[in-house]
Amino acid sequence: MHSKQRLTEQRLARVLSQRVRPAVHARALPLTVEIWNAPGEPVPAAQAIAAPYRPVAVGHRWGPAWSTSWFRISGEVPAHWAGQRIEAVLDLGFDVTGPGFSTEGLVHRPDGSVVKALNPRNAWIPVADPASGGERFTYYVEAAANPTVPLPGEAHHAPTRAGDRPAWLTGAAAADGDPLYRLRRAELTVFDREVWELAQDLDVLGELMHALPEGAERRWQLLHTLERALDAVDVQDVPATAAAARAVLRPALAAPATAGAHRISAVGHAHIDTAWLWPLREAARKVARTVSNVTHLMDHHPGFRFAMSQAQQLAWLKEQHPALYARVREKAASGQFLPVGSLWVEPDTNITGGEAFARQLVHGKRFYAQEFGVETEELWLPDTFGYQAAMPQLLKLAGVRWFLTQKISWNTTNKFPHHTFWWEGIDGTRIFTHFPPADTYNGELTGAELAHTVRNFQDKGPANRSLLPFGYGDGGGGPTREMLARAERLADLEGSPRVEIEPPAAFFARAHAEYPDAPVWLGELYLEFHRGTLTSQLRTKQGNRRSEHLLREAELWSATAAVHRGLPYPYEALDRLWKTVLLHQFHDILPGSSIAWVHRQAEETYAAVHAELTGIVDAAQRALAGPGDGTVVFNGAPHARGGVPAFGSAPRAGEPAPEVDPVPDGDGRLVLDNGLVRFTVDARGLVVSAVDLAAGREALPPGAAANLLQLHQDFPNEYDAWDLDAFYRNTVRDLDVADEVTAVPGGVEVRRSFGSSRIRQRLSLREGARRLDIDTEIDWHERERILKAAFPLDVRADHSTAEIPFGHVRRPTHTNTSWDAARFEICAHRFLHVGERGWGAALVNDSTYGHDVTRDVRPDGGTTTTVRLSLLRAPRFPDPDADQGTHRLRYGLLLGASVADAVREGYALNLAERAVPGGTAVAPLVSVADDAVVIEAVKLADDASGDLVVRLYEAHGGRARTTLAVSVPWRTVTETDLLERPLPDAEPVHAADRPGPVLTLRPFEIRTLRIALATGA
Ligand SMILES: [Zn+2]
Repeated sequence: MHSKQRLTEQRLARVLSQRVRPAVHARALPLTVEIWNAPGEPVPAAQAIAAPYRPVAVGHRWGPAWSTSWFRISGEVPAHWAGQRIEAVLDLGFDVTGPGFSTEGLVHRPDGSVVKALNPRNAWIPVADPASGGERFTYYVEAAANPTVPLPGEAHHAPTRAGDRPAWLTGAAAADGDPLYRLRRAELTVFDREVWELAQDLDVLGELMHALPEGAERRWQLLHTLERALDAVDVQDVPATAAAARAVLRPALAAPATAGAHRISAVGHAHIDTAWLWPLREAARKVARTVSNVTHLMDHHPGFRFAMSQAQQLAWLKEQHPALYARVREKAASGQFLPVGSLWVEPDTNITGGEAFARQLVHGKRFYAQEFGVETEELWLPDTFGYQAAMPQLLKLAGVRWFLTQKISWNTTNKFPHHTFWWEGIDGTRIFTHFPPADTYNGELTGAELAHTVRNFQDKGPANRSLLPFGYGDGGGGPTREMLARAERLADLEGSPRVEIEPPAAFFARAHAEYPDAPVWLGELYLEFHRGTLTSQLRTKQGNRRSEHLLREAELWSATAAVHRGLPYPYEALDRLWKTVLLHQFHDILPGSSIAWVHRQAEETYAAVHAELTGIVDAAQRALAGPGDGTVVFNGAPHARGGVPAFGSAPRAGEPAPEVDPVPDGDGRLVLDNGLVRFTVDARGLVVSAVDLAAGREALPPGAAANLLQLHQDFPNEYDAWDLDAFYRNTVRDLDVADEVTAVPGGVEVRRSFGSSRIRQRLSLREGARRLDIDTEIDWHERERILKAAFPLDVRADHSTAEIPFGHVRRPTHTNTSWDAARFEICAHRFLHVGERGWGAALVNDSTYGHDVTRDVRPDGGTTTTVRLSLLRAPRFPDPDADQGTHRLRYGLLLGASVADAVREGYALNLAERAVPGGTAVAPLVSVADDAVVIEAVKLADDASGDLVVRLYEAHGGRARTTLAVSVPWRTVTETDLLERPLPDAEPVHAADRPGPVLTLRPFEIRTLRIALATGA
């Protein structure tokens, strides 16, 4: 037989796009259109509806970047359209080649209630169905002139000003700037259902045909059937012939899937970035628009299920659109709207601190429980840039059983070997995990996507099902009726996997039952991509780091003051401040990958959070210190220091340990020596010797210099704020020339300049300390450069140990395998340790997450292990001014350090003592005798019962046995989950003659204890 394959495929494409689809809304009349341009920030609907409008015509240009225009559209349904479904179709200037990322609209009725949204691929408004004819109607469309970032005409990932916060927004002035959009269409139309159904039939069978292998018989059968269906279509009169064409296709659509066909659980979804190429306020509007679409769709498609993650987004909706939120609750009650994810936002998980990640779970799960009566059991993080290895335990402690992401499919080096597996954390907890093999969280249920799912699924054989989230995210408006039409046709179709719309929980239960012995992946899920996000936007990262530690102190001292002094506990403020900090851990804010507007606003917010938390800490400490003319020193760190117990205070006895003064060594070098360690700084301002005097050991390799600042070009191939590409190491400039090296009281000051940037560093050493402190002030004006601080160490270490939330991970320093080599930039929280048997060193920091560790063997046979901190980057997209200006950050080199020392010093650097006037010392509410057990949180219970809540963990990676000593009278201690709810099998410990419960902890085990006090707090 002669092949007609190409001819028929081309014919299908043209007839479908140029004749069938346009015929869906073929009969059309113009609408009356008027406009009102809102000044400044978005206004409530009532205000906009009452505003003065003026007539405009199709073709009207509107919308300077970030402004809002309201369109009033009105018309009348002609009498002869009675009995038809009538829709208005509006094209605000959409770019249909992308589903979102530009203008969007929200449609209101004259009473202000919301109908649905308008998005590039979802541009219709329901008017009447069926129409009686003669209906008059008016709608108001709140149209957001969101710019694409970069703007049309600007190069991909080139610096752009599109993401700057416009000055006019802050006042009441009219929007300034050129209009970005043109109103292209405003018509009243008849929706021809039969033609629309034909379009879906042709689409699904055509897609399936293309997805099938060339040799498959079904492919050729579909080609033949499609050709006959196209013969039945009169391209001059599609509506009259649609039914006949559909009749030809019916048998092909009725052929059932094979018995062993792969099963896809399709879940409606819209990944809405809580800020990114738009500010927070626009994310809230995107949520309203998408939710209005999906609740509208649910009215007409009872089988449609939509999963929404990020409690914060629903909290916005509750506040800003109460009527729409009520609809969400209705749809949740009917099982169509599914709150998922268990988190406050979808945060970055590399950088977010341990206690903060716990609170993401607490506030996320609590919101869903209180608002929807739902106990969420899955973690939904499709887009976050890698996953730290304490997560499995934290999930389990919050009652989360399942984890979903697909991001690891973005790896640029190694393909992850599983799609369904058990993820095991550092403590041994395992969580059943699934990566949708479609490799997307914005699925459309196309034939190509389903075929890729089946081909790509790594676990076929033992397992036969996968999950596919479908729907346009980020302003695309979520799932469309066309996607639901696909799902319906793909439920049981020969040649295709079976598609069933169902909740994620149903998928996970079935996947788990099918594959209980799935393979195990131990340790972090490192994303081999976006490594620059550990460093970009330092001020945002510091804001988070400071806030996390201040929240810890605020809770600790407020609880202590409540118990000891009866001071009211600031429940409301702490709840609000936690949620603010959790919001900013979103996976494009904390990683530094948002537009300038987002980061400048975050800096302002962090400053306000800092001020309020400092006030709370100060008020509690002053209440505790009482009257008196002495000074009381408070220690919020989890280890005693300077004679002050952890979580307690003591009167200041004399001055704090002084810093040692530098002494010239006669060779133009300055020496800091406290009898324990000795550091030598040369005329270049570099540390050329670092001696652990007790061990009699020089820490630096011969001829090497530490605290060497190194500048690299940093111009990744794409994703500037996200990516640090491996070739950045190919060129380096050592900043080894000092403008000035000066002995100052208690330290050495080094000044350097390069380009138009300046650095001032103060190197100091306290009496009794083993840590060289380096306090750095930078005025940074580089572009597309990364600044590293290098510490070459004479240590043969084949792995490094980095702090992560509630523990640490060991990573190879070598590049034996492609997996090791790909981890050329790694995350550490407060410390990174390298060592050999009997001796080690650590770098501790108060601001830095990105690190790298490399190794070399010297001619003398020794091994140099070089630890480097990534201090600053200067990416230019999406924020062209990222990281410009002044910064201050601190880090230190700790000699002769074990991992236990590193844990302690990391906390100490980030939790300085606070001195307060007064005369009364306070004993810690709780304490543990074993250094390995670290108390992470001391607070009053969120339920305002006055119970004390203590969270602690084993920090050294071994077994620990200790007593939790409670210094105030107590009745019971009960073990709880992260949400402070008693664990199902928890046996309360009753107060007897013992000081507190005896705890045995496994390596890295986290425990939460709820202490009922004998006298109310
Ligand atoms: Zn995202």
